[in-house]
Amino acid sequence: MKIVICGAGVIGVTTAYYLATMGHEIVVVDRRSRAGMETSFANAGQISWGYAGPWAAPGMPRKALFWWLFERHTPLVIRPRIDPALWTWLVRMLRNCTSSAYIRNKERMVRLAAFSAECLRELRAETGIRYDDAAKGTLQLFRDRKALDEAATESRILSDLGIPHVFLNRTGCVEIEPGLSRAPATIAGGLHFPGDETGDCHLFTEALAQRAMRRGVEFRFDTTIFGLVANRGRIVSVRTSRGPIAADAFVVALGSHSRELLRPLGINLPIYPVKGYSVTLPLANPDFAPRSTVMDEAHKVAITRLGNRIRVGGIAELAGYNLDRRAGPRETLVHAVSTLFSAGIDMTRARFWTGLRAMTPNGPPLLGRTAYANLFLNTGHGTLGWTMACGSGRLLAEIISGHEPSIDLEGLTLGEPDGRKTRSVSPASRPVVASTSVWRSYSNRRMAKYANAMRRTSGRFRPTDTSEATLKKEEPQ
Ligand SMILES: Cc1cc2nc3c(=O)[nH]c(=O)nc-3n(C[C@H](O)[C@H](O)[C@H](O)COP(=O)(O)OP(=O)(O)OC[C@H]3O[C@@H](n4cnc5c(N)ncnc54)[C@H](O)[C@@H]3O)c2cc1C
Repeated sequence: MKIVICGAGVIGVTTAYYLATMGHEIVVVDRRSRAGMETSFANAGQISWGYAGPWAAPGMPRKALFWWLFERHTPLVIRPRIDPALWTWLVRMLRNCTSSAYIRNKERMVRLAAFSAECLRELRAETGIRYDDAAKGTLQLFRDRKALDEAATESRILSDLGIPHVFLNRTGCVEIEPGLSRAPATIAGGLHFPGDETGDCHLFTEALAQRAMRRGVEFRFDTTIFGLVANRGRIVSVRTSRGPIAADAFVVALGSHSRELLRPLGINLPIYPVKGYSVTLPLANPDFAPRSTVMDEAHKVAITRLGNRIRVGGIAELAGYNLDRRAGPRETLVHAVSTLFSAGIDMTRARFWTGLRAMTPNGPPLLGRTAYANLFLNTGHGTLGWTMACGSGRLLAEIISGHEPSIDLEGLTLGEPDGRKTRSVSPASRPVVASTSVWRSYSNRRMAKYANAMRRTSGRFRPTDTSEATLKKEEPQ
């Protein structure tokens, strides 16, 4: 089958690679001159299935209001504007800030992220590609006692989901990340996720694109996509700045720009572009720099070691498609890293960057079929597209190739509940929305099933590692 993939970010490239391994003829189209030049370019470098979870969480509305109104170094910036898409998305997100919605969405994201971790390990072994990668875990750091106490609730959810983690006091955090010994900031404690990895998403995307080319995938760079041409419930071709491209099937992997492409077809994706910032810094002294990812929960900023560089990423700015690098958010990143690792980094050579996260209101991405029989989605990965890329690419390749998907797709497709339902014309005779009975039947039993599945998938962990009995809990100081 000839398949056109719209977008050469980490999601489009992983999809192309897996489809090529399944014997298809692939053309990837992107407006940039190389792969991974937009949101996949300078993200925070976390590959964190343990930390995977939605922003829409209980307590988030209260926190968000506080940050927005009072916090100088705020992780959230809303630039109020007349933008129905923004306000609709915010209302849908608020509706997902209940405990039950949080657990449901977290399970979906962890299910995909855990599968993705396994796919990434296999892919690395198969291709030998390197991307300043490391497997030293994520340390979620809490600066105050209240936040640490709240993490105890999260720890119970993590145990239920089978996610290996360790509860640490300040001393434990410094043992995991010795660079924190010189931190001027107070540290109350943390949660350590030993199974998480780190790596440069852009290096990975380019290296995998090269491997895909060797398997015959054609990349058409410097080519802007204008639209999709539909006829009788099928897509016939994609209109580009270099002429139309016809194919048997089409994949939309344009990140935040997927929404604009699909709107003329009557598909309104529940995605909003949420701007994030990052800064890349050279290492000054490795002894006082992070060894892996440190997630500073106070500022929602991830600080990651990538070879001899440090990548600091965070901030959620709701301002449409604007990519300006504003002073306030830049200062927040600098404040977070310099109050934890000032002795380890060289602030004089900071390189700032912004990118747009394609966020769904409830968290999980949108994979799979649409109302058009030969049009498929792989988009809406929000804060964790790098973490979920390999799993998403492989799942979509399985769906398109007519194979049984490796994991359950419940909650990961278009037209699911939780505010993901779209106003969509149905040119195809076959309805594509998932049955709501799937959602209603959600239960603790189901979660336990996934916990077991995840334990099986992450072969590196013995199932007992996550049991209450063996969970190493230290009293916070
Ligand atoms: C600050 C920040 C930090 C982050 N940190 C992490 C992290 O630590 N871990 C993690 O897992 N995730 C992280 N993410 C999220 C992650 O980076 C994204 O989810 C992921 O990169 C999305 O990949 P994508 O391929 O969907 O989108 P993109 O990389 O944006 O790819 C879309 C592609 O489509 C192309 N395109 C768009 N429109 C057109 C058009 N009209 N014609 C032709 N081509 C077009 C673009 O050029 C681009 O190459 C972070 C994001 C941000 C912003």
